[in-house]
Amino acid sequence: MAMRSLAAISSSIVSLRAVHLPTKLRPFAGQVRSSVQLVRTRENVSAEILAVRNIRWTGGIKILRPFQTLSTSGNPFDGTTTRQPIRCLSVGSLEPTKSPESGTFLTTKGAALAAKQIVGLVGFYSDHYVVPLPEGHRFPMDKYRATRILLEEDAAMRDILATYPAPFASREELSLAHDESYLESLSTGNLDAKQQRALGFPWSPELWRRSQASCGGTVAAMHAVMLGVARAAANIAGGTHHAFAGHGEGFCVYNDIAVAALVALNDYPASCNLQSPILVIDLDVHQGNGTAKIFENDDRVITFSMHGEKNYPWRTKMKSNYDVDLPDDTGDEEYLTILNEQLAMLFDRHKPFLIFFQAGVDALKEDSFGRLSLTRQGLLRRNNIIYSACQTRNLPLVITMGGGYSRPNDASIEAHADVYRSAALRYGAARS
Ligand SMILES: [Zn+2]
Repeated sequence: MAMRSLAAISSSIVSLRAVHLPTKLRPFAGQVRSSVQLVRTRENVSAEILAVRNIRWTGGIKILRPFQTLSTSGNPFDGTTTRQPIRCLSVGSLEPTKSPESGTFLTTKGAALAAKQIVGLVGFYSDHYVVPLPEGHRFPMDKYRATRILLEEDAAMRDILATYPAPFASREELSLAHDESYLESLSTGNLDAKQQRALGFPWSPELWRRSQASCGGTVAAMHAVMLGVARAAANIAGGTHHAFAGHGEGFCVYNDIAVAALVALNDYPASCNLQSPILVIDLDVHQGNGTAKIFENDDRVITFSMHGEKNYPWRTKMKSNYDVDLPDDTGDEEYLTILNEQLAMLFDRHKPFLIFFQAGVDALKEDSFGRLSLTRQGLLRRNNIIYSACQTRNLPLVITMGGGYSRPNDASIEAHADVYRSAALRYGAARS
């Protein structure tokens, strides 16, 4: 009956053995690491797996739902063992996935191929990189992790959402959209004061690494949809649309959508071309100025931005192929009517092949920067309009996160999670 009382004697990180893992993960035994604590019960001393969020995982699969498994409880003093059920919530990695053969980080395409084929949504995250920011800095760095945790702990996401650590975008990929001199300044920490002011972040090695992963997540999501791993794939970050070829702005280091679109044009030329352009649907409340500028003279990528007319960027607004400026306090009905009309025109006129959705939620009325008045329900309807438009035309879709700055940030986090949750549900429901 073992009433547990339980003093922890020691704890350590160990590799989980096959017996601890569900069948499908057993080939990866040894790659899953977990914290194990030795506890003293009334009757014996046993090793118990506590883990849950401390699990490190270096394989290519992620468990999304809570699972039961058996822990072998050994008594190191008398050699007896018992087995008891334990519950693990999720298995996540703290680093991008490495190739088991070479030990090097996976490429963006490699990461997409390592994801399991899923009916629903594949998502990449990069919140395992934490960027040190000065106290009181207004960028909500913690929202990325909070959004991912919300999704992973949502039982409704079981089997329809698979998340993976984002790979790094390579220098070669980044240079498709960015100037060499800017990439060099970022990798060596030589951004000058003016550049850092425009960016809004102080430079740090962590910022550079995280930005590479954040951009890599969108490139990997693009590969995932182009390679048929899933019909929709997401970056639970990215949508950093204020980054220009030669400098960053407004909390955006690399322009992930621009990089991923240019990689798509390079790697899948038979699919993406002038007859079938890529369409960027940017619904962040701020204009996608960096993306607009990068594709200003490139008809292979059509940029559409619908944003608050009085919002940032004030001095650096650029010309997208299509810009819709919305007045302050625009509400759900007006917003959704315009969106429906614009989408019908865009799909009809351009017959795009691949869609990038910048799904910023800063049009929410609770947003501290947004100036518009959409409700959470209105944003949900907005998301579903995009998903329906892509699903009815059978178009591959890449979703990125974009802005969201409510204070406190719960409202933004819920709305961000809605973007991914509703995509997983929509695309998961396509299962027959
Ligand atoms: Zn924004």
